[in-house]
Amino acid sequence: MHPLPIALLGYGRMGKEIEKTALARGHRIVAKIDREPDWENQTQGLKEAGVAIDFSTPAAAASNIARCFDIHLPVVVGTTGWLESLPALQERCLHERQALFHAANFSIGVHIFLSTARFLSQKMNPLPDYAARIEETHHIHKLDKPSGTAIRLAETAASQMTRYRGWRLSENPSQTACQEVIPVECRRIGETVGTHRLFFESETDSIELTHTAHSRRGFAMGAVLAAEWLCEGRTGCFGMEDMLGI
Ligand code: NAD
Repeated sequence: MHPLPIALLGYGRMGKEIEKTALARGHRIVAKIDREPDWENQTQGLKEAGVAIDFSTPAAAASNIARCFDIHLPVVVGTTGWLESLPALQERCLHERQALFHAANFSIGVHIFLSTARFLSQKMNPLPDYAARIEETHHIHKLDKPSGTAIRLAETAASQMTRYRGWRLSENPSQTACQEVIPVECRRIGETVGTHRLFFESETDSIELTHTAHSRRGFAMGAVLAAEWLCEGRTGCFGMEDMLGI
């Protein structure tokens, strides 16, 4: 792989972790955009960049992606909580032959977890005694609720089970007895990196599938690998399934 000149969009916890991983893989960081005015201050670095990696905020991500498209810069997005803007950006991406790679979770383990959740939900579909529920736990700084991965997990489970028509945020765990939607409970605790759990519970027993991230390094590695993959000349809108083939 040729060394990539990378622009970091967002230089918080994830931006710093991505910098370490990118440098360790021989890439260069040519711009660090961490607030709105940096788009003006760092025009030289942005001109040099071959790819941008965005781990910023839900409020900033969509306009950051649009700005990358304006300068025809391929962009990898890990920020969550901006998906209402995806259809318009996707259309622009395809129409203008831009390159966008987005994932609510760049951990390869999470994608194995999601595909196992799909399989398990299929098996539970004919067993109405089991109620599905989801729990996610993240650090107190996380702005979006539920996490993008919890939404993906809930949509995956609901899509495999005819008795559920979707999911809903469960503010109060004691109110989880709704028959038609999967309750998703969100916990924000200390500096926890991220845990997602899918439960199937009956009066006689319970089944629990859990993914726990131990550090941010797994997300950073996934994002840098996605940047390398995107820069192999790809145009279009991609996700982890495209890169991993699962
Ligand atoms: P953070 O709060 O530590 O960092 C966010 C940074 O974005 C801050 O430094 C902030 O100054 C900066 N920022 C604000 N406005 C900006 C703008 N207009 N342009 C560029 N940067 C701007 O957050 P974090 O823990 O690094 O997480 C960032 C995002 O990534 C969150 O949405 C989080 O949920 C998501 N995340 C995704 C994954 C994944 O695998 N996809 C993993 C971890 C976190």
